[in-house]
Amino acid sequence: MTGVIEPSFRESVDLMFDRAVRLMDLPPGLEEKIKVCNATYTVRFGVRLRGSIQTFTGYRSVHSEHMEPVKGGIRFAMGVNQDEVEALAALMTYKCALVETPFGGSKGGLRIDPREYEEHELEQITRRFAYELAKRDLIHPSQNVPAPDMGTGEREMAWIADQYRRMNTTDINANACVTGKPAHAGGIQGRVEATGRGVQYALREFFRHPDDVARTGLSGKLDGKRVIVQGLGNVGYHAAHFLSTEDGAKITGIVERDGGLVNPKGMDVDAVRDWVAQNGGVQGCPEGSFVPDGAKLLEEDCDILIPAAIEGVINLENAARIKAPLIIEAANGPVTAGADEVLRKMGVVIIPDMYANAGGVTVSYFEWVKNLSHIRFGRMQRRQEEARHQLIVDELQRLDEHLGDAWSMTPNFKEKYLRGADELELVRSGLDDTMRIAYQSMSETWHRRDDVEDLRTAAYIVAIGRVADSYRAKGL
Ligand code: GLU
Repeated sequence: MTGVIEPSFRESVDLMFDRAVRLMDLPPGLEEKIKVCNATYTVRFGVRLRGSIQTFTGYRSVHSEHMEPVKGGIRFAMGVNQDEVEALAALMTYKCALVETPFGGSKGGLRIDPREYEEHELEQITRRFAYELAKRDLIHPSQNVPAPDMGTGEREMAWIADQYRRMNTTDINANACVTGKPAHAGGIQGRVEATGRGVQYALREFFRHPDDVARTGLSGKLDGKRVIVQGLGNVGYHAAHFLSTEDGAKITGIVERDGGLVNPKGMDVDAVRDWVAQNGGVQGCPEGSFVPDGAKLLEEDCDILIPAAIEGVINLENAARIKAPLIIEAANGPVTAGADEVLRKMGVVIIPDMYANAGGVTVSYFEWVKNLSHIRFGRMQRRQEEARHQLIVDELQRLDEHLGDAWSMTPNFKEKYLRGADELELVRSGLDDTMRIAYQSMSETWHRRDDVEDLRTAAYIVAIGRVADSYRAKGL
């Protein structure tokens, strides 16, 4: 950003919050209570690496404890600071309220570039950070449950879970102290894809609302829509992969660290991802033409823009040049409060972060429940369901034989119908349901009230209303 002063990330979130509460009728003082971050713990710890002691700085911020445990990822990145974790923790509060996962909001971060360390070094650092947090109950199955975020994934979550278990050997619920674990270590099917999958379900639901679609000037469904995605990390990759392989969308632009790729005909997202894995960037990838200034791609003509990397990429400097009529915020805070205002005036529809990327925490919720119930989803009912299906199929088969060709079953029907849902299917179904219902609550507020100009304000109103109800019920 050049020459333009913008509020910090946390101030940006607060400004958006303020816009929404102005339209609400909250008891005096409650607004401030909900807005402020309850506590932020900063830890500095040393780890002996490569012959010397290296000092690391980490944070765990708890925004709201109106429900416990509090929930939110742990990020490993050089840009981590207190302002950022507090903004992200606040977004977690509103996100959880909007998609009705029974958690307060929290977030953690460690200032580190994970690519600079060997795996065993990262393990040492992660375990030490986890130790510091766990001994203060900032990792705890009933108080604070971290998850992956930028720069962390299943591997780090497995280390954290193991560290907690070593410190709490008799806690039968120890596995529920963190989510996003690998499937073989207490995780759940579908957690890795969850945030990107949620973006897909969010867009599908948006396109089921013709009045909302009309505000973008677009029409029809996702098929053939031109999509530019910024960031091919876990979220951006899965969103782009599912949208292009299952909904017929065309990925016409991909922005990565070293630049961007464009191809008006659409790109094979998996081929680009493999190229990046092998070459460290998109340059030279035959799927599209290389654009050295990736940020410029955000301003290209397209139908849907998906910022899926870091905060603040659409700001006062470039907002006026954005051409996409629809932005879906797969990242947290990719549009600053200033840019949000510019885009609103331009008539751009923004599907806000607290809804758009809530798929991750939704499936984290399923994983946490699975850990606490100590049983895989579907284990009790799957075969019973299959047996009942078998009854119907046998009956249909009997009719089939009786009526002959005049009334025959569709090929594959038997196999498809007979198979009871496994964990992955149940997770996807639960996620789809969550994304649909949350969208409807947001959209309904947007339409019902003339003073609600956009989906973000609607999302805040729904979320803040729920947090307020929860405080009221506690007698605060
Ligand atoms: N880090 C993710 C987010 O920002 C997931 C949080 C979680 O699963 O608790 O929503």
